Amino acid sequence: MRLLVRLSLVFRRALSGLALGAALVALASVVVADARSPLPLALAWAYGVLLVFLAARRLVERFRKSLDAGAEAELGALAMLGAYFVVIRVDRHLDSDLFPLVYLCLALASAFGRKTGPLAALTTGLVCEGAIRVVAFGGLGLIDGILHASFMVVFTALNAAVLRTELARMRTLSEARLTNEMDNLRAEARSFRLLAPSAPPSRPSEDDRLMRSGVEEIHQSVLFALRLVRDSLGLNTAMLLWQNDVGSHLRISELVTDEPDFVEGPFLSGDGVFGAAMARGEIVNLSGLRPGYKLPYYSGVCPVKAVCVIPVHEHGKVRGLLVADRVQDGLFLPREEAILEEAARYAVRAIHNERVFLQLERGKAEQGKLYRAADQLSSAKTEESVIEVGVGSAREITSVDYTALTLFDEKERTHEIRFISGDFDEGDGSAVVGARFRSNTGLVSMALENRHPLPYRGQFDDRKQVVFTRHVTPPKMPSILVLPLSAHDRPLGTLVLGSRRRGAFGESVRATLEVLASHMAVSLEGARMMKRLEELATTDGLTGLLNKRALLEMAEQKISAARRFGRHLAVLVTDIDHFKKVNDTYGHDVGDVIIKGLGEVLRRNKRETDAVARFGGEEFVIVCEETDERGAMLLAERVREELARTTFIAGPAPGQDAQRTVSVTCSIGVATFPAAGQSWETLFKTADTALYASKQNGRNRTTSATTLGKPEAAA
Ligand code: GH3
Ligand code: MG
Ligand code: MG
Repeated sequence: MRLLVRLSLVFRRALSGLALGAALVALASVVVADARSPLPLALAWAYGVLLVFLAARRLVERFRKSLDAGAEAELGALAMLGAYFVVIRVDRHLDSDLFPLVYLCLALASAFGRKTGPLAALTTGLVCEGAIRVVAFGGLGLIDGILHASFMVVFTALNAAVLRTELARMRTLSEARLTNEMDNLRAEARSFRLLAPSAPPSRPSEDDRLMRSGVEEIHQSVLFALRLVRDSLGLNTAMLLWQNDVGSHLRISELVTDEPDFVEGPFLSGDGVFGAAMARGEIVNLSGLRPGYKLPYYSGVCPVKAVCVIPVHEHGKVRGLLVADRVQDGLFLPREEAILEEAARYAVRAIHNERVFLQLERGKAEQGKLYRAADQLSSAKTEESVIEVGVGSAREITSVDYTALTLFDEKERTHEIRFISGDFDEGDGSAVVGARFRSNTGLVSMALENRHPLPYRGQFDDRKQVVFTRHVTPPKMPSILVLPLSAHDRPLGTLVLGSRRRGAFGESVRATLEVLASHMAVSLEGARMMKRLEELATTDGLTGLLNKRALLEMAEQKISAARRFGRHLAVLVTDIDHFKKVNDTYGHDVGDVIIKGLGEVLRRNKRETDAVARFGGEEFVIVCEETDERGAMLLAERVREELARTTFIAGPAPGQDAQRTVSVTCSIGVATFPAAGQSWETLFKTADTALYASKQNGRNRTTSATTLGKPEAAA
């Protein structure tokens, strides 16, 4: 199917390419004709206007939206035709002073992003040049021609190369700038511990938004505190420095200063006054600073006379510094130190609050997703819909590129892959829907056996670990998580999630995914129960065939279809002969085995579209679509003969050792639609009457309703 679509696309493209080629050849031949003998002026003008019009149409398009490859090719070719036309028209030879116009057009065409523009321009140029030389000028100037051609080729190639390199450079630059900005933000968030130290590098969207607003909030609060202390204590600079997550550097978190010659940092944690305050965890209060004194954050002469550095503690550890300095000499007074300490505590509280708030927000978002999932799962009534909802929810919780669901058969101790999704190529991994495998030491088997998600840290190594089996494998991915699905401690299967992102199943999402899996398991169990109930309501417990209720429903449907489409239909009723005697002789259990045996015979002989039901006791009914009397008789006879040939083991007689065998026969009645009746009631009644006739005529035979009253019933 895909191949067909692709072929038709290629064909369509080739067709439009051909049409374009033909149009260009026609346009080029005008230029060649003009070179041979000048066209009348009016015609030349008309041609010029046509070229301009065609090119202008494409150019306007280019400004509205971007052009496709075909349009760029057209524009390139048109420009070249125009250039040659002008050269020929004005100077009537190709060594004209106007020839650089051709190179200019080539350069313009090269400015398009794609290769088609310059290629089309070059081809048109070469063809025009050749045609004009050969057709119009009689093959003159071979050397000149080759010179022009090689010049054009080299020129186009160089242009394209330069442009492409420049484009690539710009793209790399802007990507690097973006990544850099995100990295800075992350580093900052990490140093405030808004992000876990090992948080994966990119999980865009919601988390990024939360993180950004978190960092922003902290800055606002800290800035407010710094302004307050600067104004109240007459400071030159007030700033909060915060340690990076490794503890090696201090970065300016927020700053208010009057100083222009400021060093932005980051500063080494052990540098000068910073080092002293960090190492001792005590306030450093200095006065009488000389202009030569080196404060790490001023680049020029030291503009202040006093500095006070307050260590900022968090959970008993120094995490940052509050730095205050002023031009006025003299130590900071204890009262002032206290104010600064208060400001430091305020900053820590802001960071704290933001962290808690962020965690709550994250938790809320996570809970929202789970709540939605649980809600949808509870209304999913079939196995398919449970899988669909569960897989969709897992994707919302973390970045999932691959999902598989396995179901476990407790009796056989085998797993079956019931569902796979993910945009991987066919060659990636060999696991397919329907694949079965025995319990083994793979992650799926072990996760289900131990009721614990595997691998333990969500890090997957395909050299050491097996997901399904050694031969049934998922595509290669750095992260895989197998979640067991078990309800009321019954193992149901597993949900296998895979991601191309390393560390996609970290501690925080694992917990959420586990809850999702347990919801899924319960819903899966519910869906299975529903299915079983439905089956129970429509099947006969002993034979597994339809029960009477289900058959009545199907018979009505089949009869109305037969009536609507004017088709035949047959109803067969069977009854085992002298069954009471069998029961009396061999016992009820043996009777049951025989009933089951007849059920098997019927199942083997029926067609896909036939409905077979145990109607009660040892009586069966078959409704056959598109079957006339002859077909129905054939089926009935086949069933009757096969049953008569079958021997059942009846066990030894009381007080004896030898096994006994037993064979039974059955009688059958057949009625066909429309001859024997138009409704279910009449059809069934007629078939039953025919069955009665079979019994009357000696049993072990089939009677068709049409032969009723006639003596020659089949025997
Ligand atoms: P006939 O040839 O006239 O049909 O003789 P019969 O003895 O088979 O008579 P009938 O069909 O009326 O008897 C049905 C007997 O089938 C009655 C009962 O003992 C037996 N039977 C009905 N349901 C079951 C069942 O579920 N299991 C077993 N083992 N026997 C059943
Ligand atoms: Mg009976
Ligand atoms: Mg009977």
